[in-house]
Amino acid sequence: PGAGLAGATQAPRATAQDRRQWQERFEAFRARGLSIDMTRGKPCAEQLALSDALLDLPGRGDFLTEDGGDARNYYGGPLGLPEARRLFCTMLDATPEQVAVGNNSSLALMHDMLAFAVLHGVPGGAQPWSRETDRFLCPVPGYDRHFALCEAFGLEMVPVPMTGRGPDMDAVEALARDPRVKGMWCVPLYSNPTGETYAPDVVERLARMQTGAPDFRLFWDKAYAVHHLTEQAEGVPSILALSAQAGHADRPLVFGSTSKITFAGAGLGLLAASRANLDWYAGHAGVRSIGPDKLNQLRHVRLLRDHAGLLVHMQAQRAILAPKFAIVQSALERHLDGRGVATWTRPRGGYFVSLQVRNGCARRVVALARQLGIVLVPAGKTHPQGHDPRDSTLRLAPSFPDPADLATAMEGICLGILLACTEEPLP
Ligand code: PLP
Repeated sequence: PGAGLAGATQAPRATAQDRRQWQERFEAFRARGLSIDMTRGKPCAEQLALSDALLDLPGRGDFLTEDGGDARNYYGGPLGLPEARRLFCTMLDATPEQVAVGNNSSLALMHDMLAFAVLHGVPGGAQPWSRETDRFLCPVPGYDRHFALCEAFGLEMVPVPMTGRGPDMDAVEALARDPRVKGMWCVPLYSNPTGETYAPDVVERLARMQTGAPDFRLFWDKAYAVHHLTEQAEGVPSILALSAQAGHADRPLVFGSTSKITFAGAGLGLLAASRANLDWYAGHAGVRSIGPDKLNQLRHVRLLRDHAGLLVHMQAQRAILAPKFAIVQSALERHLDGRGVATWTRPRGGYFVSLQVRNGCARRVVALARQLGIVLVPAGKTHPQGHDPRDSTLRLAPSFPDPADLATAMEGICLGILLACTEEPLP
């Protein structure tokens, strides 16, 4: 089975006796007074401990960069240290020269790109992006914080369905002809929340398509570039290379971070882009700050060393995460298979499992789970404006709870799904 969500669910199958049993189990569960947080894709303590060496790095006396600079001082430009740019270029499918290493958050870089675009315009554009009329394509289900950025900058969100192998490209190509469409969010690998990876032909079409706006940008968020859960590491073709070949070198802005590699919120934010885009970024970022935190870059270079070291580190992450994803799958299969109430993804990487429950039931599931002390992300968050028109998408984040809590939480969530989706009258 693939990572994508299989279509709509069939009619639910439950007898009155089934429902009575679930209700009894639900009441017993509620009496346990649990408190389990399954909201965000936060690394657990064991994952964070894999990078504890960072707390002692680079270490007293180790502050010289490879080109002899002093990382304690104002040094170098806004693009970051050469050794850090080299370390992360493979992960971003870029050359070291195309990479900028920033501060602690890729989301902050995305925010800054939008701010610079709205204030100043981007290379290839005749004027600054307009808050009034510009639009962004938003694959759904998607990442709530991408949508929050659009809201913050007044960009109108245009939903595009995901297919299990990336966004629906016929829809994307048709919509992108509108000159008001200035960009698109993409999480090409192990997408948040469906876990799907864009197929090579989808990436190719995104690189080649005609856009109405000459200054159109793909916000290519490789947040889960090396976050594999199986032996079969998935990958996508280089959007930078394909776009350049198609004559659209400035189209992609590639983002990444070490938030889910080392310390979440205390790692490095990454950007890869064409020369023109990097110069543009450096020009504006250089006004905003004299430069990023070079000691944190040095610390990460000392810990991870090179791409091979990074992959070894990610294997240790996988050893912690994969069993948790297995707990989620086995609970869903055990409790929900054959009931006609839900379909769900089986991601081979990333941080999320997403479920499609019976239409009109997602909010009810979240409310029932809360009664059991299990906090899920509010239903609807996976859609622009927090509104899922079918009220059917749920996102599960298995990383943070310990395995025992996770197994308990999954049992409770499944009970909530069974009850919510077989309640009468059904919408
Ligand atoms: N992009 C995606 C797709 C994410 O899922 C997340 C975190 O969940 C982020 C970006 C945030 O990354 P950062 O901590 O680098 O801002």
